[in-house]
Amino acid sequence: MQMHFGKRYGGESTFAWRRIAAWLWVGGMLAVSAAGQVRDARRWQVSGASNEHGAMRPKLVVLLVVDQFRADYVDKFRQQWSGGLTRLLEQGAWFRTAAYPYANTFTCVGHATISTGALPATHGIMGNAWHDRETNKQVTCTSDPSVQGTGYGPAPKAGESAFRLAVPTLADEMRFQLSAKTRVATFSLKARAAIMLAGHRGDAVTWHDAASGTWASSSAYGTSPLVAEFVKTHPIENDYGKSWDPSLPASEYLYEETPEGKAGPRGWRPGFPHPLRGAADSTKPGADFYAQWEASPNADAYLAQMAESVADGLKLGKGRSTDFLGISFSTLDLVGHAYGPHSHEVQDVLVRLDRTLGEFIEHLDKTVGRRNYVIALSADHGVAPLPVEMQKAGLDAGWIGAPDVLEKIDKALEKFPSVAPGDAGPKAVRMIDGDVWLATGLYARLKQDQMALRGVIDAVESMPGVARVLSGEELAGQLRSGDSLVRAAAANYVPGRSGDLIVMPKPYWIFGEQGAGKPQTYGTTHGSPYDYDQRVPVILMGWGIKPGEYLLQSTPADIAPTLAFLCGVTLARPDGRVLREALAQRNSASAEETLPPD
Ligand SMILES: [Zn+2]
Repeated sequence: MQMHFGKRYGGESTFAWRRIAAWLWVGGMLAVSAAGQVRDARRWQVSGASNEHGAMRPKLVVLLVVDQFRADYVDKFRQQWSGGLTRLLEQGAWFRTAAYPYANTFTCVGHATISTGALPATHGIMGNAWHDRETNKQVTCTSDPSVQGTGYGPAPKAGESAFRLAVPTLADEMRFQLSAKTRVATFSLKARAAIMLAGHRGDAVTWHDAASGTWASSSAYGTSPLVAEFVKTHPIENDYGKSWDPSLPASEYLYEETPEGKAGPRGWRPGFPHPLRGAADSTKPGADFYAQWEASPNADAYLAQMAESVADGLKLGKGRSTDFLGISFSTLDLVGHAYGPHSHEVQDVLVRLDRTLGEFIEHLDKTVGRRNYVIALSADHGVAPLPVEMQKAGLDAGWIGAPDVLEKIDKALEKFPSVAPGDAGPKAVRMIDGDVWLATGLYARLKQDQMALRGVIDAVESMPGVARVLSGEELAGQLRSGDSLVRAAAANYVPGRSGDLIVMPKPYWIFGEQGAGKPQTYGTTHGSPYDYDQRVPVILMGWGIKPGEYLLQSTPADIAPTLAFLCGVTLARPDGRVLREALAQRNSASAEETLPPD
């Protein structure tokens, strides 16, 4: 596949400004140290983590992603928490206005952005899946025909890796740049999350194969005896017959529960309790049970325990280097898709995740030492409300069915037989979220016939819920366009990979796999350039971080550059910036205060 990548987000002038700012900052630090803060420097050195021939950096980098965690969940639900989320908010640096600057707010895209510090136009991951023009087939962001699936149980057929990711991740750069070996372990229910967090190699890159109920990896990473041991001694099947019950008194949940427009795993009805028993007539664990288990808080708790156990076994944070531990918690996403952001299920998953994270961080305190690790927490995207709930409130919302869009394009092209001969099969061959791919060569012919191209665009723009149709090719280099929709689409436009046409929905309109009149397979989704999808928490806590609430502009692409800076590692081409306002100045008098208490 021919690929080249667009210009960096922010452009050269921003880059130059950043450099100057960085020098001013370093200069400031030197001045402070020259003023005689030697004792403070020594205090930092004693209490900070010194490793690999005395180098000053954290011993462990922990990257946590909560799939589909909207930024406003913190404001709405934090009174329900008292564990790990609360600790991160109170003891960490919390970037309250952080948001993705691009339109394709999906899991693979977000994880790749968090782990590389680059935007999709640079890192190449513009969706969870796309149409491969060479093979005329759909490929996923992690599918890799050159590797084999490996598993802790029956091995999955598909091989998966990060080979479609065009740049190294932070973990990749740590492995390569630090002179002592960096160990990399990542965990998620989703392959695309575990893989994008780790990058191209790793010691224990682990995900869950829902179809078979087994834990999996691929030959790109191998298998870990530590994961094998944990899986053997902690079979998921132990949860068969259990139930997910609400963990708070009914009065503590916000919003009234309604059953309309919800679509959970088979065997579950909207509203608690949710039995982990598969279909009503099942007698033993099967695919329905595994789907229910993944959508229950038990899965988050399991993942954290697995990560703790493997991290202990690998002795992460105890070697001469800086190690990397990544966990992506997927349950909130599964539950949010099924029941929507106002559901009691979403609130309950967060209450339970708060407890899970509390225990997880306390485990790090005991095993690695609370002065030796740095944690970052963010999300890959947010989520839209259930369209039906918006409609009931008298607001504009709805579904745009992919089959309807494809049909509309084919119909519009019937008027232009010289551009699109009628006998050659479908003209619009695939739509994945907003990206539409046309039959081979068709876009090039459309470009020659502006009337035909306008006819197609007008037809799709006449559909309910469509804000705009952009032609992909014109997006390259539009990262600083004055038009916010064009700018957002350009930030995830990848030439050769992205669609020929990009359909931008109106706010609160979401893409569905089913055409009009057919029930959709989920309750709601994400993937738009609007705030409810783009705004996510960005929180850093621990080694080198100055706690506080920060309102400066930031994006999740700033996480990797910041962590890289703390580790003394250089990222080649970050689009994000070092969040220097949240860095403790090592030699300043305030350094002591900014260290977490013993
Ligand atoms: Zn999702």
